Amino acid sequence: MANYDLLLLPGDGIGPEVMTEVEGVVDWLNGQTQNSFNVETELVGGSAIEAHGVPVTNETVEKADKADAIVLGAVGGPKWDGVDFEIRPEAGLLRLRKDLDLFANLRPAICYPALAEASSLKPEVVEGLDIMIVRELTGGTYFGEPKEITDLPDGQKRGVDTTVYTTSEIERIVRVACDLARKRSKKVHSAEKRNVMSTGVLWHEVADRIFREEYSDLESHHILADNCAMQLIRWPKQFDVLVTDNLFGDMLSDEAAMMTGSLGMLPSASLGAEQAGKCKSLYEPVHGSAPDIAGTNQANPIATIASFGMSLRYSFDMSEAADIVDKAIANVLDAGLRTADIMQDGMKQVSTSEMGAAIKAEMSKLSA
Ligand code: NAD
Repeated sequence: MANYDLLLLPGDGIGPEVMTEVEGVVDWLNGQTQNSFNVETELVGGSAIEAHGVPVTNETVEKADKADAIVLGAVGGPKWDGVDFEIRPEAGLLRLRKDLDLFANLRPAICYPALAEASSLKPEVVEGLDIMIVRELTGGTYFGEPKEITDLPDGQKRGVDTTVYTTSEIERIVRVACDLARKRSKKVHSAEKRNVMSTGVLWHEVADRIFREEYSDLESHHILADNCAMQLIRWPKQFDVLVTDNLFGDMLSDEAAMMTGSLGMLPSASLGAEQAGKCKSLYEPVHGSAPDIAGTNQANPIATIASFGMSLRYSFDMSEAADIVDKAIANVLDAGLRTADIMQDGMKQVSTSEMGAAIKAEMSKLSA
């Protein structure tokens, strides 16, 4: 029996609405499993700016550092469009990612059979799809220096971004992907552009060594990132775990995600380095604060509930409970319940709170 500290950061817009449904799932687990969660809730984003003048306080960052896992809703909205760049709502999220050194971004692309018809690809291509994209999150093109726009003598401007990776940055993200592959179907692909980029040559060399020396039990492959983009559309089910850098991961994870339907369905996890057997972790839906539907009880809570489900698997070693959450989501979709964003003909439209209640009821049935 274990006692875990869980920090909830609902944030702005639909964040608090979808987080209420996560709280319901946590309460359910507290009553059902041997483990228990101490839940604390703090402000982040626009709500923190209003209360404290900053998008995340030092106290909240300290709590995040100590927590066993963090679940975040979403930040931002038009209300804070005019605030200074340094204290904009997104800066709170970026500070958490940076201070906790969350270098591994896990983005599953799962196509629930009930939603296969809603994909822009043929149902047989996406039905049952279950891919995990592992994106390096703290290095590469988005952070490399120099990063600047300079004036040229002829009156033009020159923009520069720099792609930089070191051996250890590549090693640690490849290991995260391989460890995940061991828990899944034992297959991993590494995507880079070794044909045109020096970082691609290094990425390939390092990934290949890690595959051979440390993970020879896995089926491992290398693929050029542009070919990977094509193969994802042609036959995505050939992939299981796919590891890539920050820039390619940004594109490929969005491409894979969109095969599965709505933004309201997509969870994610960001993990840091392992220390004393545990690693810092932040779980959040891929979507934003959806100001257009905030406060209307219409938001789809599945992405946030599934994000909490990922925390059960990756931070709390509660894979049985995580399976129950995932299966409950699949079952309510099979039963025809839909929030407005995934509504289809002949299905029953439900609100945020009705969807949360249906998932909890299904969890009770599954664990009876
Ligand atoms: P968004 O993801 O908030 O919304 C895009 C569209 O998808 C909207 O029509 C919205 O109603 C819909 N949508 C999103 N999530 C949904 C859900 N759970 N259920 C039903 N429909 C959903 O993106 P946006 O409109 O570009 O951004 C709005 C605000 O969110 C901006 O301030 C942006 O900066 C911020 N944002 C925050 C994050 C984050 O917190 N990680 C991510 C993206 C955007």
